Amino acid sequence: MPDSVTMEKIVSLARRRGFVFPSSEIYGGLGSSYDYGHYGVLMKENVKARWLEAMVRERDDIVALDSSIILHPRVWEASGHVTGFADPLVDCRFCKRRYRADQLDQAECGAKPSKHPGETEKCDLTEPRQFNLMFSTRIGAVEETGFDAYLRPETAQGIFVNFKNVAQIARRKPPFGIAQIGKAFRNEITPGNFIFRTLEFEQMEMEYFVPPAEAERWYRYWIEERMSWYLRLGIRESHLRVRAHEAEELSHYSSATSDIEYLFPIGWSELEGIARRGDFDLRAHTEASGTKLEWVDSEGGERYVPHVVEPAAGVGRSLLAFMVDAYDEEVVAERPRTVLRLHPELAPVKVAVLPLIPRNPEIAGRARALYEELRRAVVAEYDDSGQIGRRYRRQDEIGTPFALTIDEQTLEDDTITIRDRDSLSQERIPISGARSAVLDRLAHEWKTPKPD
Ligand code: ATP
Repeated sequence: MPDSVTMEKIVSLARRRGFVFPSSEIYGGLGSSYDYGHYGVLMKENVKARWLEAMVRERDDIVALDSSIILHPRVWEASGHVTGFADPLVDCRFCKRRYRADQLDQAECGAKPSKHPGETEKCDLTEPRQFNLMFSTRIGAVEETGFDAYLRPETAQGIFVNFKNVAQIARRKPPFGIAQIGKAFRNEITPGNFIFRTLEFEQMEMEYFVPPAEAERWYRYWIEERMSWYLRLGIRESHLRVRAHEAEELSHYSSATSDIEYLFPIGWSELEGIARRGDFDLRAHTEASGTKLEWVDSEGGERYVPHVVEPAAGVGRSLLAFMVDAYDEEVVAERPRTVLRLHPELAPVKVAVLPLIPRNPEIAGRARALYEELRRAVVAEYDDSGQIGRRYRRQDEIGTPFALTIDEQTLEDDTITIRDRDSLSQERIPISGARSAVLDRLAHEWKTPKPD
């Protein structure tokens, strides 16, 4: 059965429920820029937490780092970004639009959108020119003494330039890794497809330093690990695949790259890249800085430049994939229902507390007390506005796995109902056991009820 989800439906739900808004909207918006609202922030934090958990907390061989967004400009010369981080672009002298030279067959002509650029008589395209994707800025208060710098286009280089500091202090021997989550900036000119491609985005990157002879093995290992991370968090297997890059697609630093791709409504697209970067980065920074970035065994005296395997993912792009995969529509009791079947660990709110008759002070009081108890353990929400059906629908749309309803029967026998987002089952449980019932259910293994 084909998915009912489209990008328009995701954009609309994200906005309606306050996950993601167009940036600077009151000024007409800024292309390829988005702001995250309350639920978007909570969900993004969950994605990042699951990544850090898998990379750092559950392992002994990876440590964390948070490096600066603005690094010494020579970092980007040494890394090859000043000369190499560019897309070939063509301009149309007639419609004044700019296109990626390698994606003309997917672009719309500025004057006649049913055609591709170059296909109409009026199209007047320039030769492709290299256009650097880095945003530049200027450091220093005085114009004459200031100098140009860049906003980082990836978090990886902050890891390489800290290799010596971290390797010494963490007392790690290859294979070991350094993980970082942080903002990156790219002057992207291709249309964004919502948060799939934005000017400003968060990356989750891990550089894994290995003995050169083991690079291929670890490259395979990290492809497997990262695939299973998405599967564990509920993405359907049929919507994930690994695609190895052809030789001509490889970046300047890479000897092999595989993308984990997701079947977005726009088609199969990169979710994460896993690259074998060889010793390119450590050697380049050693040469440019004069500081030897190598592994030295303090006991045996062995020394070598480790090779690097890098899994690099985007927070926003992952969040989009999780939302798309979770989006579902069904008809229940002749009424349409939209539900985000998110893995409970990713859901922004874990439990909603709903007093059935809010103007009954006893019911409201019991509900409020339960909410106060629950919010200490998990992200909970108290909702007393509108019909109960509408409140359920709101929670379904933000993916809240459980809703607890307090009603008149609660006042008689101290029980409440717990409603399951996916099965819609409702069960009466004692109010005193509500906290542990929610925590137990959240800890259960979860599999999407959507067909694979
Ligand atoms: P693409 O081919 O889509 O431009 P890329 O191969 O340049 O991506 P990488 O440099 O490998 O991307 O970055 C690693 C990850 O960072 C990507 O897999 C993606 O999830 C995320 N990412 C890269 N560019 C953007 C962007 N402009 N907006 C949002 N996320 C991005």
